[in-house]
Formats: sequence, structure tokens, C-alpha cells
Amino acid sequence: MQLTGIGVSPGIAVGPALIVEREDVPVVRLRLGPDAVPAEVDRFLRAVAASREQLEGIKERLARDAGSPHGYIFDAHLLMLEDPLFKDRALAVLREEHVNAEWAVRKVAEELHDRFARLADDYFRERSSDLDDVLGRVLLNLRGAGDAPSLRRLPGSFVLVAAGLAPSDAAELDWERVLAVATDEGSATYHTSILARSFGVPAVVGLREATRRIAPGSLVVVDGTRGQVVTEPSAPMLASFRAAQERDRVEEERLQSIQALASVTRDDARVVLLANVEFPDDAETARLHGAEGIGLFRSEYLLGRTREWPTEERQLEVYLQLLRDVTPHPVTVRTWDVGLEDLAPGGPTCANPALGERALRLLPRAPDAFRRQLRALLRAAAQGPLRILFPFLTGPSDLRAALDLLAEARESLEAQGLDHAARVEVGVNVEVPSAALTADLLAGEVDFFSIGTNDLVQYVLAADRGDPRVSAHYQPLHPAVLRLLRSVVAAGQRAGVTVSVCGEMAADVLPALVLVGLGVRELSMNPAAIPRVKAAVRAARASELQELAEACLDLPTAQEIESMLRRALADVLAPLAAF
Ligand code: PEP
Ligand code: MG
Repeated sequence: MQLTGIGVSPGIAVGPALIVEREDVPVVRLRLGPDAVPAEVDRFLRAVAASREQLEGIKERLARDAGSPHGYIFDAHLLMLEDPLFKDRALAVLREEHVNAEWAVRKVAEELHDRFARLADDYFRERSSDLDDVLGRVLLNLRGAGDAPSLRRLPGSFVLVAAGLAPSDAAELDWERVLAVATDEGSATYHTSILARSFGVPAVVGLREATRRIAPGSLVVVDGTRGQVVTEPSAPMLASFRAAQERDRVEEERLQSIQALASVTRDDARVVLLANVEFPDDAETARLHGAEGIGLFRSEYLLGRTREWPTEERQLEVYLQLLRDVTPHPVTVRTWDVGLEDLAPGGPTCANPALGERALRLLPRAPDAFRRQLRALLRAAAQGPLRILFPFLTGPSDLRAALDLLAEARESLEAQGLDHAARVEVGVNVEVPSAALTADLLAGEVDFFSIGTNDLVQYVLAADRGDPRVSAHYQPLHPAVLRLLRSVVAAGQRAGVTVSVCGEMAADVLPALVLVGLGVRELSMNPAAIPRVKAAVRAARASELQELAEACLDLPTAQEIESMLRRALADVLAPLAAF
């Protein structure tokens, strides 16, 4: 049986399935005599303290093992644990109603879920599952079995199959013994996906029915590169997976060996490869993968799960660290690309966040946050090649507003006599069709374009990038997308503006080669994709890619474009195992 999901961490693994069921802890309700209440209060506080200790332990272990600061995921859990709405309220229920601690926790959980449900926005729905995770832990600790159902001590090596993995389960996992992960829920930005990538464990998420259809102990193949899960594979199928696994390994070694080589086509066209980075610590990973700088730092990750705007000084520190980590290469920082729901959790939301108040549209609601960021960026730019990228602009009037804000930030620094860059490179994220259609008007005002194809494709084709039900309609090689890209590149070239692409198209070999054919000479992608794209660039000829890109523009469908490219580029693609 074969299931298809979203491959979020590459590689192939084969092993027996371990199904993770999150068992609900049965809760009994007891009425206590008044004398028993103090001891019950004590038992509750001990369970909270044990939960706190475990969460802090997970946080530390995670920071150590994954080498990345993903422990922030647990800050929200720790906050929830100490939140008066939980802790004080549970104590009040205990004392006033004379019930056992388990029942008090259950009652408060219901109250909080009600509150979250009324808020009905994605952020709070996510927090609702966090709440289950935290309170489930307290209940287990009340049973004196906090560490009992142990994902930390797996009885062997397994392919983990779960409906969803709560962040604390994922962090507590004995990753050494996890061969692969397959979940019913999830997306590429799911916490479990981030962690699986950090640990180099193949993962496929969004499988919908994996837990229902995979029998415990059955042999499972997880192909995280291609987003496939196969159960009880036939002998020939297994052999072909093993062969693909071996090819991936050899390929990986070969790709590592090209890290230090230049990114140039066979006919000497230079294609600069940069990294997309979410967490400041990942800049080092980017460098190790051969990135020639950071083409996109998604600065909003600095808000963390608590959604607090970082101070100007904290930002300055981060931007300077990024510059140091990739010196002498440039660092491109994108200004806050957040939506209304991120701004004030629990506050107003947009009917459609992708089309609503986001990025600079939020300026009237959070003017200081934007000012502080631009001041920090200008200050950091005095120390190194930092570039400022404005996302989600719809055309020249948005750009003017952004440039005015930047000028205002510069004046305020001047007035205070604080050191800052006299001149800084400024770019526009071309990711809304109206910006693409006015690229010629924008080009005169900026130093670079960074085409955000993740969004551009969804807006051009009216296909939500996050909705798996319309993923077949999300086609980066659609002729409308390629024609629009061509016009943006041409507008940039005419004005002498650098044109970079920072969407996932740049990370995928076939579309990346089309981009080079369209004249793009700067590609920014997740660091892990760099060696493969570099191998493809080095095997191709820019002149041939240009002819192919032109030929693509005359074909009517994405499918025909893709087949034509695969045929024409067979020699370039053949040595790259992932095809
Ligand atoms: C994009 O839209 O292509 C992009 C790179 O930004 P994000 O994925 O963060 O929207
Ligand atoms: Mg975008």
C-alpha cells in the first residue's frame, strides 16, 4: 500500500512501524474531606514542578542535540504551566470545590479550551493542542508516571507513525532510534518537520490516514525526498528503495565534495547561490553548505512563539551575528512579514490572512515595531554588507511608503548621533502579481529584486500554497508564472538591478535551471538544497538553458513544459539522484 504526503525531511528509511497513540489519561472525580485538601494542593504543585523540570530538560536537550535554538517551542509551554489562568485557577478549584487535583486540571482544561475555541483563529487553535500537551503532562505527573510512556526509551529502532506529534513528544523522542517519521497531520513548517530536518531523519507529513492504515510492526518505507510511504513493500520494490537509498548516499557524498567549487555553468555563467535562513544559528549551516551569503533572513522568526517584538538592541546583535557568520558575503534581511493574527494573538484576525493585513500593511497598528527594525538594520549595515528587503509590496506606492519609513529611521539615528550606514542596498520582494506587473516602475527605485515565487505562484494561480487539496493547481512551471517571471527579469536587467529568486523554485533543480535560462543569476534557497543546485548549474550550459526557457514560454501547460525540460536536460539531471 502506498500513501502520499508532504516530504519534509529528505532521505529514505526502512523499518518496522511503531504507532504512537496519545492515550487520554482516565480521570476520576473524588470529593475530598477538608483535611485532605492541603495534601492535594501539595500533590498538584509537585506535579507542576515536575512538569516544569521535564520541560526545561527537554528544552536544554534540544538545544544541545539539534544544535539549533528550537527550544523556543517550549517557552510557550512553560508559560502556560505558570499562567494564573491555569495554575491559580486549578488551585482555586481544588480549594473551593474540594476535588482531587486530576479533576481540577481537567475542569480548567475545559475552561481554557472554551476560551481558545471562541477566539477561533489558527494561532490559538495551535495553542489549544499545546495546552493538551502541557496538561496531559501534568496529569501523567499526578499519576506519578511522568516519564513512563517513554518515547525517550524506544525498545528498538522504528519508523514512527503518529496522527501528530506534539512538540514535547517530538523533542523528547529518542531520535537516535527513530528511522523515519510519518504523520497524518502537518506541513513543512510543522514543528516536527523542523526537528526531523535538524536530526537528519526522513519524514513525510500530511498523510491523513497513516495511523489508520499502517499496522503496528509492519515493514514501512518512508521516502522523505519524494513524500511517499509504502507499507509491506514487495521484494522488488524494497530492492528499488534500497538502491535509491544507496544512490542518495553516494550522491550526498559527491555533493559534499563540490561544496568548495564555484557555481558556474559549463559556458562560464556565474550563478550566485545564497541561503534562506530562519534562525540566526543557521547562518553557520548555510556557510558549510557553500552559501555565498544569506539571500533571505525571515526576520519574523525572531518573534518566537510568544510573538513579542524583539528590541532594537537585540535585533542589532542578531543582524551583526549574521554578518559575522557569513562574512565577507551579504546578508539580506526581510522586514517583518507577519499577519494581523501574529500581531495581537487573541485580537482581530483577517478573513483571509494571505490577502489581508500583513507585512507593511500593519504599519499603522505597529509603527514602533517597524521603526525599531529599520533603525537596527541601518545600524548593522554600518558594519557590513547588509541588504534590506521589503516583502509583500504591491507596487510603487507601497514602495514609497517603505522608503519614507526608512528615511525617517535614518533621520532619527542622525538626530541621536548613532552610527549607521550612509547607504544601504534596498530591495523589493516581488511576490504579489501587481508588483511583478509594475516591476519596470519599481526597478528605478531599488537595488535588487528578490522574487518570492512561493507567494507569487499562489497569487497568480489562485492556489493556496498551504492547502494540500489544491496542491495540483500550484504549478511553478505554469506558463503564466514563467511569462511573468520573464517580464520581471527583463525589467530588472533593463534597469541594471540584481534579480534574485528566493522561493522554493530556486531550490528545486528543474525550475532552478529554468530560472537561470530566464536570466536569473542569483538563487536563494534552504541551505541543504545548495549542493544539488550547484551540481546542476555546473553540469548545464546557460546558452542552452536560455533556449529551453524561451521554448517553455510557447508551451501551453506545466506538464508539457516539465516533460520537455526533462527530456532536454536528461544529461544534466541523470547524475542527480533525487529525480
Ligand atoms: C516567497 O514568498 O517566495 C518567500 C520566499 O517568502 P515566504 O515563503 O516566507 O513567504
Ligand atoms: Mg512570501
